Amino acid sequence: MEKEKFFIDDGYIRELLKIKVSDEETDRILDRAENFEGLSHRDVAALINTENEAHWKRIFDIAGKIKEHIYGERIVMFAPLYISDYCVNRCKYCGFKCDNSFERKKLSMDEIRSEVKILEEMGHKRLAVEAGEDPVNCPIEYVLECIKTIYDMKLKNGEIRRVNVNIAATTVENYRKLKEIGIGTYILFQETYCKEAYEQYHIAGPKRDYYYHTTAFDRAMEGGIDDVGGGVLFGLYDYKYEILGLMLHNEHLEKKFGVGFHTISVPRICSAEGVDRTFPYSVSDEDFKKLVALIRIAVPFTGMIISTRESMEMRKELIKRGISQISGGSSVEVGGYSSRKNGGSQFVLNDSRSADDIIYWLMEQELVPSFCTACYRKGRTGDRFMSLAKSGNIKNVCLPNALMTLKEYSLDYGSEKFRAKANELIEKKIPLIKNDKIREKAKENLIRMENGERDLFF
Ligand code: SF4
Ligand code: SF4
Repeated sequence: MEKEKFFIDDGYIRELLKIKVSDEETDRILDRAENFEGLSHRDVAALINTENEAHWKRIFDIAGKIKEHIYGERIVMFAPLYISDYCVNRCKYCGFKCDNSFERKKLSMDEIRSEVKILEEMGHKRLAVEAGEDPVNCPIEYVLECIKTIYDMKLKNGEIRRVNVNIAATTVENYRKLKEIGIGTYILFQETYCKEAYEQYHIAGPKRDYYYHTTAFDRAMEGGIDDVGGGVLFGLYDYKYEILGLMLHNEHLEKKFGVGFHTISVPRICSAEGVDRTFPYSVSDEDFKKLVALIRIAVPFTGMIISTRESMEMRKELIKRGISQISGGSSVEVGGYSSRKNGGSQFVLNDSRSADDIIYWLMEQELVPSFCTACYRKGRTGDRFMSLAKSGNIKNVCLPNALMTLKEYSLDYGSEKFRAKANELIEKKIPLIKNDKIREKAKENLIRMENGERDLFF
């Protein structure tokens, strides 16, 4: 890719950041957002600088409306699985950076099985495999073997049905191998779109190459991966710049491959061992809520993910503004689910509740925790998924799948109290399934599950 035509153009983003529009123009942009049309990067630039509280109120309202209308009350659950903390990079903000001294570890296949056993006992069906970058200690063959081991590991009714992968930027050939082994989404955080800041934070190692990192999704899609998940680490640079970077990246992928980000993650910088805690661009809670709402209205059909970096209160707030996936009961250490206590961790958790507690907490708020992995298994990926999402038809299957997976979870892992709560919620939500045929079929499936069947989905 020629560098001068690169889709992230620093000068262009800085020009965009100066855009100011009239109140009438802002209203026109928000009217489009309200119709779920999504926004261009120029629209986003126009909104990002508004200081008019009435405009922000409207942005929050539209984000809430989109959340309700497109995603409904389901919240998809996942857990990270750290397989190796070997890393040859020196990313200033990360506890795994190569100059942090702690005993490095990568999981053996037996250890993977032990970790997955615990995750399956928690009821998880969807994992995000995470690894530092180290071509010697953590080559692609090792990552592939881990994924195969995870998919093969079955425990009573427990199984992992979708493995998303978050590993360093790599070659088309390696992405092809990941596709062949059956990964769900390939996730890679840009960290920061600002090249200058990027180079300041990535002191040494292959990740320092901004262009190689930023074009990773191009190679992933060339390698056949349909679903890619982007994100930045908010706090490394001006969040307004980062949002425009995300929008431009998304538009680039849409233009070139017909589909943009499947998901966007919104991690916010937090402390880690051996990490300098002073980040001049730290994002305040208020700005963080604004940026989540803005992304929600700009790309209404892209799932938004939040991790355990955020507190329970913040997660609660952000779920209302558009977050559709959260992790629960997470460990961010290699081997952390089993027993390892003294290793390095990538960052410090702010929500350390168990998966069980988080699921119950979601139900108390009338939200439906979902362990659904149906789209990927039905071949609804890439542009096929996006066209279904854009037509509004996806929600016909999201809610019933959420209710069925909750039923499955409650039968296999829930206490009596939990089952009662889940059944009460399911009863309440079933009438919300609009399509008569699907509603009836979902009711039938719930009974089949009580009679011992599992893994029923639309
Ligand atoms: Fe390594 Fe990733 Fe941490 Fe950088 S962010 S030090 S690449 S694990
Ligand atoms: Fe996600 Fe598809 Fe399941 Fe909806 S039906 S929750 S979009 S996997």
